[in-house]
Amino acid sequence: MSVLPIATVGDPVLRERAQEVAPEELRSPGVQRLIDDLIETRRAAGGAGLAANQVSVTRRIAVVEVDEHTRYAYKPRVPLTVIVNPVIQPLSRERLLINEGCLSVPDLRGDVERLVAVRVHYVDRGGNPRELDAHGLTAGTFQHEVDHLDGVLFLDRVKDPRSFSTWEQFARHHEQAFLRRIAPYAAPSAGAG
Ligand code: ZN
Repeated sequence: MSVLPIATVGDPVLRERAQEVAPEELRSPGVQRLIDDLIETRRAAGGAGLAANQVSVTRRIAVVEVDEHTRYAYKPRVPLTVIVNPVIQPLSRERLLINEGCLSVPDLRGDVERLVAVRVHYVDRGGNPRELDAHGLTAGTFQHEVDHLDGVLFLDRVKDPRSFSTWEQFARHHEQAFLRRIAPYAAPSAGAG
């Protein structure tokens, strides 16, 4: 496994729609190694997830994992989940304003509206069709990763540019109010496979 370089905003690879992965391709050593590298790169960088576009590969593969080492201390833990060809199904129309960051957008955060409850349909790395339900911040994380596979960054979804802040200024001025606001949505929620 290796830690791969992460593409940053302005790199056209982040604006491409990633392509579906065919079953035989998913079984190939190259794609299985890519998945291992995504896992290792996410762990090294400390994000809540990582999509293939972010390591300059335009295939519909992403990993989500929230452990004690992620840089979002308030996010509910999510076990390692590899999603291939994911599709988001809204489970309600309710939306939540979540302050997000992104490994591809260094030192910037902003408020983004996300669906509060989603079902994620995907294929696991063994080629098995699966689905999981996610709520609150965890639902937001899955939507953020699937956005990457469509060439969308959280920046595109920020409705109020005044919500932009560096990580330091967020912690200093905005984090407490944010944590109070999202408290009802921060409970553990994802069943992952
Ligand atoms: Zn991101």
